[in-house]
Amino acid sequence: MLEYTKALETLRAMGLRLTPQRMLILSIVASGNSHMDVDQVFQRAKESYPYIDITTVYRTLQLFKKLGVVSEVAIGNRLHFEVANPESPHQHMVCLVCSEAYDLPPQYLEEFRHSLVQELAFEPDLKNFTVTGVCSQCARDKSNSETGGF
Ligand SMILES: [Zn+2]
Ligand SMILES: [Zn+2]
Repeated sequence: MLEYTKALETLRAMGLRLTPQRMLILSIVASGNSHMDVDQVFQRAKESYPYIDITTVYRTLQLFKKLGVVSEVAIGNRLHFEVANPESPHQHMVCLVCSEAYDLPPQYLEEFRHSLVQELAFEPDLKNFTVTGVCSQCARDKSNSETGGF
């Protein structure tokens, strides 16, 4: 929730009118289950505001993005949102089975970036780097089903 508080302060400092709906949308994006797409944010928002419409959710997310408190991440062919945190830039690992996105800390890519620069004289732009694979949860599920476990 620290990210939420920080983002809220930023918005307040910018003079944005913090309506309950805006605060709710921000708290959904900032909540534990990050990397939600517009529809997932909308579904969650509906639990508190049954009459909210997806256009409002979409516009609010775009506004937050413009103000720099939320960033948009392309994961597969869908756009996901997360609270922007300039202090911890990261890339993403996406599970091909469950489509969940996981944060990939930058140190894992630092060596890769360094090799490209040193050995190939190529400066990669890794901002939108995404690696796909199978997450530990899905790997476990798979091996369980193969061994006849539960
Ligand atoms: Zn998975
Ligand atoms: Zn992320």
